[in-house]
Amino acid sequence: MQTASPTLPMLQIQNFINGEFVPPAAGRYLDNVEPATGLVYGQIPDSDAADVARAVEAAQAALPGWRALPAEKRGLLLVRIADLIEQNLEQLAQAESRDNGKPVALARVVDIPRAASNFAFFGTGVSHFASETHFQEGVALNYTVRHPLGIVGCISPWNLPLYLFTWKIAPALAAGNCVVAKPSEVTPATAYLLGELCQQAGLPPGVLNIVHGTGPGAGQALVEHPLVKAISFTGGTKTGEHIARTAAPMFKKLSLELGGKNPNLIFADCDLAAAVSTSIQSSFSNQGQICLCGSRIFIERPIYEQFKAAFLARVAGLTVGDPQEAGSKQGALVSEAHLLKVQSYIELARQEGGTLLAGGQRVQLAGRCVGGFFLQPTVFEGLAPDCRTNREEIFGPVVTLTPFDTEAEALDWANGTDYGLSATIWTRDLDRAHRVAHQLHAGVVWINTWLLRDLRTPFGGMKNSGVGREGGLEALRFFTEAQNVCVKL
Ligand code: NAD
Repeated sequence: MQTASPTLPMLQIQNFINGEFVPPAAGRYLDNVEPATGLVYGQIPDSDAADVARAVEAAQAALPGWRALPAEKRGLLLVRIADLIEQNLEQLAQAESRDNGKPVALARVVDIPRAASNFAFFGTGVSHFASETHFQEGVALNYTVRHPLGIVGCISPWNLPLYLFTWKIAPALAAGNCVVAKPSEVTPATAYLLGELCQQAGLPPGVLNIVHGTGPGAGQALVEHPLVKAISFTGGTKTGEHIARTAAPMFKKLSLELGGKNPNLIFADCDLAAAVSTSIQSSFSNQGQICLCGSRIFIERPIYEQFKAAFLARVAGLTVGDPQEAGSKQGALVSEAHLLKVQSYIELARQEGGTLLAGGQRVQLAGRCVGGFFLQPTVFEGLAPDCRTNREEIFGPVVTLTPFDTEAEALDWANGTDYGLSATIWTRDLDRAHRVAHQLHAGVVWINTWLLRDLRTPFGGMKNSGVGREGGLEALRFFTEAQNVCVKL
């Protein structure tokens, strides 16, 4: 692999264990590639079981002090981290963009602000986490104590690196656990910077430990470690299945946020301009690499041609370019391997009889991005709702348009995959909106909007999209163990 420049020192990041940056025990490193250039620009620890063991040891030593701190005090530390993320927003956004290939403009308004919100939300929220009592008049008083689990593992993917990393870490810490976290080896940069911010915030050593490395290496060791009581995982469905197979016999608590193949249902009575505009976002934001992206767009036949024309006109305006440039609406895909995977699905869609309406080609940029992993936003029509292109997760800037005639047909097709993460409905008919929402096999349903998030709401998928729910009290419940105490009156 070519490197960015033979004269510049590589950005070599380290593990964050016991409040310090330390090299991996075996001294091995992995290359980190910048997706926009295709060049190696840094190195990350290729950690193994020895590094995970060291992190768990640090977490174990920190645990008695951390769980004994009043929730408000723990919360204040987390709010301080949120403030530091906001103060360093620009540096973090630049790092996220370089590491992931996403437009820096997107990282500035979505990824980094949300990472700060995650800490602020759970830092304050934990003070409102009340215990339940069950009073039986004259008989007994039951009250429920929620103990932290102890040491927990958080494993996150590459698509929204700091956003999803902190979405797990913040509630785990707020609830009084110590954490060993592993970010994706594809996008380690902002997780590394988070360690620095935790130092600045005065988070006690060992409370949060960040171990870098591959899934089979560091990730597997974390899932297997007997002192790690729970695994909160976000990533692919196959990986989730493997993690469940490893962790379930050890009776670990598991939260699995997995893949999706989300439908957009566009009814003829919708606000068409809003439906088109938001569908562009839900199709192509972050190059379609958001688990909540809607990749199957079902449109009621009377407005099919009108929707298609307006949608394609907007697709033509999505400039693919250097993620650092303000005018770029589409950045690079995260890696060459992922680009090849997405391209293989474009080829499959062709073989399955799809008509290519837009895109389909790799984009060759000039200058510094000449070797980057860019792809045109791609739209197909004419594919059967049950073909592989319409059932399997592509996780890139590829969507299909399909006309439907009845509500029942749209529902049948929308529910016709193994996934059940999210869905979007566009209609002005409130009765229909609720009726359809309740019949969709999706953990999250948006009506006349997309990706509008309230952190208090339960978040997660049905079917192969996951097990458990994150968000609000659900997350605090996951990261605690309920104990009932019964007092006879
Ligand atoms: P991935 O499953 O390849 O990797 C996710 C994380 O798991 C990485 O940190 C990886 O190193 C680690 N890992 C891999 N093998 C492991 C093992 N054996 N033990 C422990 N850890 C292991 O997923 P990805 O390619 O990074 O992310 C894309 C996927 O994530 C897509 O399927 C997407 O839908 C999904 N995703 C889901 C949500 C959600 O909230 N449901 C959010 C974002 C992404």
